[in-house]
Amino acid sequence: MASTNRSPFERLRNQYNEVDLVCPKCGYDDADGEWQAVTTGGVVQYRHICPSCGSIRRRTISLGP
Ligand SMILES: [Zn+2]
Repeated sequence: MASTNRSPFERLRNQYNEVDLVCPKCGYDDADGEWQAVTTGGVVQYRHICPSCGSIRRRTISLGP
């Protein structure tokens, strides 16, 4: 089992920035954009704003416990 020094937080962020920058509403591929993460308490909120149509996507992830 390989271990990694990268935090789950970082891994998730990179995952979003690599695979999920296409706006589901207008299909715009925001290749230069990124999900912005805000950490509050044990929760991480991700936000992506489509530069084409302005649609805002939000995701909240609990880092638990
Ligand atoms: Zn859009």
